[in-house]
Amino acid sequence: MKAIVVGGGIGGLAAAVSLRRVGWEVEVRERAAAFGEIGAGVGVMPNALRALSWMGLEDEVRRLGTPRVSGGVRASDGRWLVHLPDVGQEKIIAMHRADLHGVLLRALPPEVLFTDSEVTGVEDLDADLVVAADGINSCLRAQLFPDAPGPVYAGATAWRGVAPGPFELPITQTLGPGGEAGVLPLGDGRVCWYLARVAPAAADLDPVELFGGWHDPIPDLVASTPAVVRHDVHHLPPLRTFVSGRVALLGDAAHAMVPYLGQGACMALEDAVTLAACGGDLARYDAVRRPRTQAVWRGSRTAGRFGIELRSPVAVALRDLVFRAVPAAVAVRGMARFSSWEVPAMPTPVGSLDRVEPGGDVDH
Ligand SMILES: Cc1cc2nc3c(=O)[nH]c(=O)nc-3n(C[C@H](O)[C@H](O)[C@H](O)COP(=O)(O)OP(=O)(O)OC[C@H]3O[C@@H](n4cnc5c(N)ncnc54)[C@H](O)[C@@H]3O)c2cc1C
Repeated sequence: MKAIVVGGGIGGLAAAVSLRRVGWEVEVRERAAAFGEIGAGVGVMPNALRALSWMGLEDEVRRLGTPRVSGGVRASDGRWLVHLPDVGQEKIIAMHRADLHGVLLRALPPEVLFTDSEVTGVEDLDADLVVAADGINSCLRAQLFPDAPGPVYAGATAWRGVAPGPFELPITQTLGPGGEAGVLPLGDGRVCWYLARVAPAAADLDPVELFGGWHDPIPDLVASTPAVVRHDVHHLPPLRTFVSGRVALLGDAAHAMVPYLGQGACMALEDAVTLAACGGDLARYDAVRRPRTQAVWRGSRTAGRFGIELRSPVAVALRDLVFRAVPAAVAVRGMARFSSWEVPAMPTPVGSLDRVEPGGDVDH
């Protein structure tokens, strides 16, 4: 059985690794001139780690991600709303996106990876299965589901970057009026961070000015970052199906969500493993993945409503009060609501991974 995976982001590569693990022949077609990821962080939650573990990649992810550090949620003046001892490695592994992407890329042999290979339609693809992992602006989704809505502006803009450091910091999410900040330390002293702010689309805003009064080290992290990436945040209204004929939508192409639970890429990793578990039964893939991802999609919106979207000082003070009143164990259970996912029953993986060592030739 042969699959063509369209898109070489985290979702597409994970799909290729997972399908190969159960015996599929795969080909990954990426439109960019090289495989890569933006300079920003990603939080690998326990659910995503289970998916990566099934792919045989847990050790590498643990090695490259945040070591054991404390963490929690803070108010914009720095007060802890929830503070927990073991967050790094236990509840989240923060990684540079390029590192996670690299782990997946090295699990695939170079001969299945194609760059400069934009796919504009599925008819000519010689495969039993086509995985549309071409991101939030998926051209395959638009072709196969012309009546489905496209991405919608979610009312906020986000900045992301990697501060060179060295810093020694806890993992934190900070909630302030109309804004949110995340600090994801890596093991080597660098720190991935993101800022998000309620704003009209394409508004002319300066993050240094907007977050300059937030607690340390947020202003320093932003000021010391050489390259800052900005994205207006969009999400994809829920689709009625993720499959059409022999095509399965996966990752952001199927269910792009607002980033307030940090689960978007984690869902793509779950999708990938589940697709392999379904062994080509796309109706089953749809039946399993749609309810799960759409629940997380809704949960992410709710997290936004009680997080970044609260702007009045009274509402923010009330929210902070509730956070501080909740015992840590209860807060953890709430945060873990979506990360208790388990890998579905699966055909036994065949063969071992053909690893390409770091620095190996994969850009061809
Ligand atoms: C501000 C922000 C913070 C986030 N933080 C987190 C986080 O902490 N944790 C988390 O889990 N998620 C997070 N996410 C979500 C996460 O980034 C996405 O869900 C994830 O990257 C989606 O991966 P993907 O592979 O589906 O799509 P993409 O990463 O968009 O990859 C799609 C790929 O397809 C290629 N492509 C597109 N069209 C074609 C074509 N026609 N032919 C061939 N190739 C094509 C593209 O070049 C690209 O390489 C965040 C998102 C935002 C906006």
